[in-house]
Amino acid sequence: MKALLIEDNPELRGMIAAHLATRGLAVDAFATGEEARAALALSTYDILLLDLGLPDGDGLELITEITSRPNLHLPIIVITARDALSSRLDGLNAGADDYLVKPFDLLELHARIQAILRRPSERQSGILACGDVTFDMGERDGFVGGRAMRLPRREAAMMEELLRAAGRTVIRDVLEERLYAFNEPVTPNAIEAVVSRLRKKMELLGSTIRIETKRGIGYRISDDPGVTP
Ligand code: CA
Repeated sequence: MKALLIEDNPELRGMIAAHLATRGLAVDAFATGEEARAALALSTYDILLLDLGLPDGDGLELITEITSRPNLHLPIIVITARDALSSRLDGLNAGADDYLVKPFDLLELHARIQAILRRPSERQSGILACGDVTFDMGERDGFVGGRAMRLPRREAAMMEELLRAAGRTVIRDVLEERLYAFNEPVTPNAIEAVVSRLRKKMELLGSTIRIETKRGIGYRISDDPGVTP
């Protein structure tokens, strides 16, 4: 799961980003609407956390822009100091999914994010599966035949990306982009190392499913290892 956080207060931005990182989200955090537009052009996010009072404009304009793009489905949580009822309604009318008024509890923010990402309209099912391997997108847990695998953040994100595309190859650059925030360095073997740890865990639990390496391209999970698409 990857979040885009737009908040111009550096302390609050740092606190939110750090908290969400401990809860398993990759977070790209910026201060302005211009940076938000640049990030959205470069990367794909599961959720946007948006302050309304930005140094280069009103966050509401950004919401209107985002919700008017037919191909971009991005849930938005407005975080705002403007606790006047009218601006809350403006935010929701403009297309935000939820809002929090500052100051708010970081645990509450995380709970709201979870709630939005679990909404049935956003996700057909909370469980992804391939053969004996399943992944619970809400709890971020993987299973082999019902036995749980402990998956740290990047392994969980890798499992999710591979299972979403089960049977198809996921391109390595896409994985890097989904597993790492802009400011997190990606070493040359990082992706291979994550895959290798996942493979070991699956093997230990006796999974019959394999993660194949498509040399120079990416990785593929499949319950049909003999067939290459
Ligand atoms: Ca602000």
